[in-house]
Amino acid sequence: MKHLTLSLLALALLCGSASAQIKKNAKVYICTGTNAKTYHVSRTCKALNTCKSEIKQIKMAEAIKMGRHLCKTCKAKKG
Ligand SMILES: [Zn+2]
Repeated sequence: MKHLTLSLLALALLCGSASAQIKKNAKVYICTGTNAKTYHVSRTCKALNTCKSEIKQIKMAEAIKMGRHLCKTCKAKKG
């Protein structure tokens, strides 16, 4: 019984730290070379399909530093 409790606790801790990591170091996609001011969570985002320049994968924190914000399409998908 004690073992089960510990397992559940470890699982909860793992889940908690994992989601925190995703927020900080999550990779996002940006369209370079244009006046794009957004970043994308999904590489297959419709808005990225219209990108005529290079698509780069960077960290979400970097994208925010660049003054970019989450694209509306990706935001809607995320909920
Ligand atoms: Zn998007």
